[in-house]
Amino acid sequence: MNYQYDLCIVGGGPAGYTAALHARRKGLSVVLFERAEIGGVCLNRGCIPTKAIMHSAEIYEEIKSADNLGISVQGADINFSAVIERKNQVVEKLRKGLALSLKNSGVVVINAEAKVKDKNTIIANNEEYVCAKLIVATGSEPRTFKGMEFDHKNILNSDDILNMTDLPKSIAIVGSGAIGVEWARIFSAFGVEVSIIELAENLMPVADLEVSKRIERIFKAKKIKIYKSVGVENIQSGDICKINLNNGETLEAEKVLVAVGRRVPEFNKIDGVEYIGDVCSEIQLAHYASKQAIEIIDGIKFDKTMVPSVVYGNPEIAWFGKREQDLEDGNYQKSNILVSALGKSHCDNATEGFMKILSQNGKIVGAHIVSKEASALIQQIIIAAQNNISADKLKEVCFAHPTYSEGIFETLFGL
Ligand SMILES: Cc1cc2nc3c(=O)[nH]c(=O)nc-3n(C[C@H](O)[C@H](O)[C@H](O)COP(=O)(O)OP(=O)(O)OC[C@H]3O[C@@H](n4cnc5c(N)ncnc54)[C@H](O)[C@@H]3O)c2cc1C
Repeated sequence: MNYQYDLCIVGGGPAGYTAALHARRKGLSVVLFERAEIGGVCLNRGCIPTKAIMHSAEIYEEIKSADNLGISVQGADINFSAVIERKNQVVEKLRKGLALSLKNSGVVVINAEAKVKDKNTIIANNEEYVCAKLIVATGSEPRTFKGMEFDHKNILNSDDILNMTDLPKSIAIVGSGAIGVEWARIFSAFGVEVSIIELAENLMPVADLEVSKRIERIFKAKKIKIYKSVGVENIQSGDICKINLNNGETLEAEKVLVAVGRRVPEFNKIDGVEYIGDVCSEIQLAHYASKQAIEIIDGIKFDKTMVPSVVYGNPEIAWFGKREQDLEDGNYQKSNILVSALGKSHCDNATEGFMKILSQNGKIVGAHIVSKEASALIQQIIIAAQNNISADKLKEVCFAHPTYSEGIFETLFGL
């Protein structure tokens, strides 16, 4: 058969564009179809825009407490539309950079909706594209439930919230997963009254229980109202929304963010086609999506039990591997230290948090960190764990002072 391309990819998010760039490096001819913006959810409506807004929130929060550092700042104020404008600029810059990388590496990008006809054929713009191999990386979209349908004006999803130009006085967030927690943290830093509603017994139910409890403590200190073990019956939209809970209570808030996970639109899986990223994965994370792409293209396998999760709260939250509640039979060792034990945390006025490492027979099986720089710290432990470097062996490594990494070193001695 005569193929036009070695590889056709549908979807230009982290899974799709990583596959495209790596395939070109191997000399394959590649065509990539994207119906919206290149970069997918991560770059346009997810990781990047959220963290760009969060950076403004962080700086504002730091300025408000600058007095503690001997700096007096008067008249600090938020220009929220400028915050959003800066976020747009960050996204646009990165999007242009990505488009240029794809172009320079010789990936043919077609801006169109693509349909998979069979394992070797794509239809887009009423044309057929025939390829030796086909990857589908079409991602996911915000999910909602009956009674809390988005009206995109007052009842919002994670896409809508990125384009608000004014801060509401109050917001209710339904769901305390990564998206809910990050937005609770952003809005509360900006001085918005925040309530968070979680159906499970604990906030961030996917996290280690100790992490959940710590987030709750941090949120309470920030005056975020927490509703746990309670569901939303329905939401009435209006200038002030009414959120009717299944315990009979009604909450009021100017806006509601529904952050109850993401769904994959229905599709038929075709034999012989590779599906990667959010479209097929239980772990809906950008780095998981791009690792899947590298696995398929370069044949570099990765350990699916060693995937970091990071939630950008204040402080950051990061973990991998087993949670303590997964190790119920008691056959494990655990060591914790408080971040306040570290000199650097006092220098930075960032003493909130803890680090916990779990091990079994000397092997590190999980770590859970709530700390400034947790996103970088967790990687250090994963590198050791994945390479079977035992807790004892890791003690031989010299960690710099004063750093947060020292916390990892100290924690090892409690195992
Ligand atoms: C608010 C938010 C914050 C997030 N923060 C983080 C974070 O901090 N860290 C992290 O790791 N993950 C984060 N995520 C998750 C991350 O964005 C996703 O896991 C990641 O984008 C998945 O990549 P993907 O390539 O599988 O799909 P996507 O990024 O969803 O890309 C799929 C692409 O396919 C295109 N497409 C779909 N159908 C077609 C078609 N028929 N034809 C042509 N094109 C099509 C879409 O337009 C889209 O651009 C966040 C998500 C959200 C919503």
